[in-house]
Amino acid sequence: MVDEDPYDNALTQLASITEVVQIEPEYFEMLKHPRREVVVYLPLKLNAHDQLTCMGYRVQHNNARGPYKGGLRYHPSASLNDVRALAMWMTWKTAIIDVPYGGAKGGITVDPSKLTQDDQERLTRKYVDAIERDIGPEVDIMAPDVNTNPQTMAWIMNEYSKLKSQNVPAVVTGKPIELGGSEGRVAATGRGVSICAGEAAKTFLKKDIGDTTVAVQGFGNVGSNTVASLIRMGARVVAVSDVKGGVMSRRPVGLDVSYEKLLETSASKGSVSKLEGGELISNEELLELDVDILIPAALENQITESNAGSIKAKLIVEGANGPTTPHADKILSRNGITVIPDIVANSGGVLVSYFEWVQNLNRDHWTEEAVNSRLDDKMRRAFRDVLRLSQKEGIDMRKAALAIAVKKVTSAMRLSGWH
Ligand code: GLU
Repeated sequence: MVDEDPYDNALTQLASITEVVQIEPEYFEMLKHPRREVVVYLPLKLNAHDQLTCMGYRVQHNNARGPYKGGLRYHPSASLNDVRALAMWMTWKTAIIDVPYGGAKGGITVDPSKLTQDDQERLTRKYVDAIERDIGPEVDIMAPDVNTNPQTMAWIMNEYSKLKSQNVPAVVTGKPIELGGSEGRVAATGRGVSICAGEAAKTFLKKDIGDTTVAVQGFGNVGSNTVASLIRMGARVVAVSDVKGGVMSRRPVGLDVSYEKLLETSASKGSVSKLEGGELISNEELLELDVDILIPAALENQITESNAGSIKAKLIVEGANGPTTPHADKILSRNGITVIPDIVANSGGVLVSYFEWVQNLNRDHWTEEAVNSRLDDKMRRAFRDVLRLSQKEGIDMRKAALAIAVKKVTSAMRLSGWH
């Protein structure tokens, strides 16, 4: 089914904007295909008897506007086509949020929860050894994504630095602060998502974010920091979930807990769904709750042809990459539901990655206030630009965002003489 292949979905989205943006056929072809794909075989000896074989990918979609940039995810179902789609979305994202990067993504087919910390470290180092020639601070810069974190980035930086016999912090972003990471990077994506939610609530619901009810699917880096930020902004978070399930409040005032309580439940009981006093729900049920704002912040393909008709939220703000399929988009739009697309809503992460890279290259360290105020500014500007085009052309926010991105990328390709 077309809906289930993220790369097909990314191509469908790209094709959908040709009515708004003039793209020469040769540029359109170039944008459909990644410039480079690196596939590596990563055998990992676990003990005297067992060996695990993982596939590693790095897909470099486009670098017309600057070095390739994008996260690295560890997931048992990470496939080449997933990574292709995610790489293309990074090209659009860096263009919209206006940082001088292209787009790339990496993935390893592995379930890291089944590996010890030592094995995760060895696997990460093997991956870096295998793709060493394809990355670098001016070539391709990785960052955290699903199931990777600042520790993973520290290993990458160390392995790469060893191979180059010099300290190269700018080869990855999302590092621990002690190793050159930026203040505010961990919380950046969630902070950006909640800023978009606030702007979108004002514009489309005519409500202050403090007067809205919100359901958040996913409690990883993006989901948890989105919840933290929304609670700070006064929003009523009425449901949250993680891979193991969800929890909701029947009271319109939201879950009667602090963000700290949710974090503690997640850490001590293994899932936010174990929160006392809440009502247990599944991830699927969470998506269909009657709330003002729904924030899918987990994986791709959550809102599809099969459940889009049952979505009751009036506004969807995409924290995850690719959570809504093109078929679902059509149904949502027919039902008057507004979607703030991933390539705008979750671009705060790569934006602060860019700030980190700039700090590394300048051997500088900015305060959290400086990072956050630049982040807030840039997010609001990107949101406004997309909204303006969407209103001017009478198109939805996803098409408008994509149109802005594709215009910028093709213009860079043309000026550099890509043909
Ligand atoms: N993985 C994040 C994303 O999908 C961040 C990428 C980055 O910072 O390079 O946007």
